[in-house]
Amino acid sequence: MHEMSIALNILEIVKEESIEQRVERVTEIRLAIGEISGVARQSLEFCFSIASKGTVADGAELVFENIPFRAECLACGSIFRVRDYKISCPDCGSKEIRTVSGTELFIRDIEVE
Ligand SMILES: [Zn+2]
Repeated sequence: MHEMSIALNILEIVKEESIEQRVERVTEIRLAIGEISGVARQSLEFCFSIASKGTVADGAELVFENIPFRAECLACGSIFRVRDYKISCPDCGSKEIRTVSGTELFIRDIEVE
């Protein structure tokens, strides 16, 4: 399961952070998730709640911040938001694009008690 390995990765980072900062309880983890990262949020929440049992992050809430899918046109340099997977430049119509954002998944912030 893809989401379980992500949940374990997040947990590892949170654990390291909490040791470094001598935190006893993590209450909230803010995650930035790209629109086309392919991560199922509900599944990730479920996996995380299981993986974090008995750890410093037990009961911590996952808060998701959506990162839009944006692309740059290689023909004219225009940067635009891709909607409904229509991958063509709104300015010149070119389909030669490069992904600028939307594939990422990272921890933005960790709230502690
Ligand atoms: Zn263009």
